[in-house]
Amino acid sequence: MTTQPPDLKEIEKEAQDLLGECDTPRKLEEVRVKLLGRKGLITGVMRELGRLPAEVRPAVGKEANLLRERIEAALAEKKRLTSEEKEVSEPLFDYTLPGRTPWLGRSHPITQTIIEIEDIFRGMGFEVAEGPHIETDYYNFDALNTPEDHPARDLSDTFYVDKGILLRTHTSPVQIRVMEKKSPPVRIIAPGLCFRRDTPDASHVPNFFQTEGLYVDREVSVTDLKGVITAFARELFGPKIKVRFRPHFFPFTEPSVEYDFSCMICEGSGCPVCKRTGWVEISGAGMVDPEVFKAVGYDPEIYTGYAFGMGVDRIAMIKYRINDIRLLYENDLRFLRQF
Ligand SMILES: [Zn+2]
Repeated sequence: MTTQPPDLKEIEKEAQDLLGECDTPRKLEEVRVKLLGRKGLITGVMRELGRLPAEVRPAVGKEANLLRERIEAALAEKKRLTSEEKEVSEPLFDYTLPGRTPWLGRSHPITQTIIEIEDIFRGMGFEVAEGPHIETDYYNFDALNTPEDHPARDLSDTFYVDKGILLRTHTSPVQIRVMEKKSPPVRIIAPGLCFRRDTPDASHVPNFFQTEGLYVDREVSVTDLKGVITAFARELFGPKIKVRFRPHFFPFTEPSVEYDFSCMICEGSGCPVCKRTGWVEISGAGMVDPEVFKAVGYDPEIYTGYAFGMGVDRIAMIKYRINDIRLLYENDLRFLRQF
């Protein structure tokens, strides 16, 4: 018994029509079964080959095999396309899942401390001023009565960017920049980052935060300085705190003092944080040296003023009871999340 050779062109057209209609993986699978399944169209053609007359069988067989390969390739391509479309048009989303709580960030303890310091001084009539991190040696040293042979200017103490250009070693240059632009009265604080060549240890890091304070007017006295620092300490740490002033020397103030707060951790009885003294050193202060006023064109016969510095990191450490300054700069979230 012999059979007519199958019309392969007609079969291919039919297969292509079927393939053209599938736009989902499910329809594609149905078409695959219709074409290549056990009772599929192409499978049927292959099965019929054995019943063809021997003289046409090799040629038709070859064509039929090529057709099957083309169909298989077309199916594979279609499968790739429909799965990509599915990703775009039907994203998997389970509406019954509980919502995700957004992760809330918070301010770094140093930022929190700066905000608090700013709030307290604003309440006492101070404005917040800013200055550049990269300074000239004029603003960082000369204008602050720190001459060229002063040890603070040594290469081992200061990061120089270029000749005469450096990373500021304190926030005091902001005083000069403000006084150059403004006539008295001037009442500012200037919080910001400073840099020194320090080897990191529990109380030193090469970059740290300071706040500068400056008040210039007629008849400003040491009493005003002591009053403002004491009011600040009480506002920040509560009414029990004591403040003491010790004579010191700074090139840009005369007279100069260092000031300490009574230790909040042991309340003055002595602990490792205060090195058993009951006092924690905060920073330096003093009455602005007349040489500094001359550098900015203020008349020292008319105006007087005080300036003070404050280690923001140290205040943050006391406030949050942190015993190693390096923890503030390691950005370890396990540590920072506590504050
Ligand atoms: Zn103590």
